[in-house]
Amino acid sequence: MPDDSGEWLDRGRKAVAQIDLGPRVETIGRVESFADGIAFVSGLPQVELNELLRFESGQLGFALTLETDRIGVVLLDSGESIEAGARVFGTGEVAHTPVGEGLLGRVVDPLGRPLDGGEPISAAAFHPVERDAPSIIARDLVTEPVESGILVVDSMFALGRGQRELIIGDRATGKTSIAIDAIINQRHSDLVCVYVAVGQRMTAVERVIEAVRTRGASERTIFVVASAAAPPGLQWIAPFAGFAMAEFFRDRGGHALIVIDDLTKHAITHRELALLTHEPPGREAYPGDIFYVHARLLERAAKLSKELGGGSLTALPIAETDSGNLSAYIPTNLISITDGQIVLDRRQFAANRRPAVDVGLSVSRVGGRAQPAALRDVSGKLRLQYSQFLELEMFTRFGGLSNARIERDMIRGERIRALLTQPRFTPLRLADQVALLAALDAGVLDSLPVTDIPLLTARLPAHLNSVAAQSVAALAHGAPLDAAKRADLAERVRDLATELEATAP
Ligand code: ATP
Ligand code: MG
Repeated sequence: MPDDSGEWLDRGRKAVAQIDLGPRVETIGRVESFADGIAFVSGLPQVELNELLRFESGQLGFALTLETDRIGVVLLDSGESIEAGARVFGTGEVAHTPVGEGLLGRVVDPLGRPLDGGEPISAAAFHPVERDAPSIIARDLVTEPVESGILVVDSMFALGRGQRELIIGDRATGKTSIAIDAIINQRHSDLVCVYVAVGQRMTAVERVIEAVRTRGASERTIFVVASAAAPPGLQWIAPFAGFAMAEFFRDRGGHALIVIDDLTKHAITHRELALLTHEPPGREAYPGDIFYVHARLLERAAKLSKELGGGSLTALPIAETDSGNLSAYIPTNLISITDGQIVLDRRQFAANRRPAVDVGLSVSRVGGRAQPAALRDVSGKLRLQYSQFLELEMFTRFGGLSNARIERDMIRGERIRALLTQPRFTPLRLADQVALLAALDAGVLDSLPVTDIPLLTARLPAHLNSVAAQSVAALAHGAPLDAAKRADLAERVRDLATELEATAP
């Protein structure tokens, strides 16, 4: 025995003395039944709605429904080894997720557990996934732009910081692509992005992450993933957790953009859970509270008042339609909750006119005020001109009907369409957009073959950098556009157009 055994004994006695051996109150519930990711639990009368519960085998779940003698618990982990009779403990806490800068560039599940094989998240704090939206008094008007880099969006359906804009369209019409382009365009901005994937195939999510990574925007982006294979409970809280992570930046006076891809799948998960917990189904078998679920989620997007730091959180929820039916239950709900919608059209998409934005059905209700003045000057007439052209095109398709004015409008309209057709991952800066639209308005493009316009657009950024660097910088800093500068930009586009024609085969 070593000499210091007496000391060891002493320490041991002290440690034992400190152990609290008094009675401890702990309520233990029991699983009554378990199926499809839902456990009905009895014996926990004090549990509150959304409270986190722990099963004896370690899994977490949260209380979705409270009945008089039992609660419906949705699992946040896989349900292996949960059986009737298993013990369940209340935690007294609602579901929390880590927030903070440590999440940037990471792929996590809605509870902040890494999915990218990296280190555990170093969190600035843990916030409840469900939080109240800022009150009216806490908010300010939406007046600063979020630039998507997509010409059709920025010119006609401008987004503002704090806005909620729905991206809606049929399957595979480019919904995700629009949101991803908007995220990638923030790589040089002060916006932090949160991309929430709900109920998607993992391969689709991986493609999105890869696209953002290779284009250098991932250091500003958090990926929150609850794929189709994840427990329904995780899919259900994913958008809420994403908002909590984005709010962290908003509440510090920063700016964030959140994409929820997509709320249709979220609604379906909600319906599934509601049916399993025997809530009465309503329209299209959705429970009556689905509107409230999505409204209270999207209300959390906001532009905060100066007193609260002036931060903002912009939301781009995505929804899927069936055969373009915007009047189905979930689409109408979401349209009425948001401040506008970008509607994607299947036929335009099939005709390779992408992004396939339906100019007639899309609207941005608050973004106009946030649009940079220079862009507003050159895009004022664009939507009307283009809509008239689309109508005209319909009529002239049946032949006849031709005069000089109609011909001129057709020529202009075709050029607008060519400008609005924009490949993925080719964001246009404000200066590029302004120059193109100024040139369009000045008639510079009318003599250019439509087929040359994609090349012109592709070469424009480099061209402007070399011949109009000052204007580019001034516009980026929000300078307005006087008539002389506008004419000058149009002339710079003309130079490039002439150059293209000269080198054409
Ligand atoms: P889903 O309903 O499956 O989620 P989605 O509506 O999100 O589909 P995307 O995945 O964004 O559609 O796009 C579908 C396909 O269209 C992709 O392969 C993408 O490459 C192509 N695409 C989307 N936008 C454009 C564009 N502007 N230019 C060229 N191709 C595009
Ligand atoms: Mg998609």
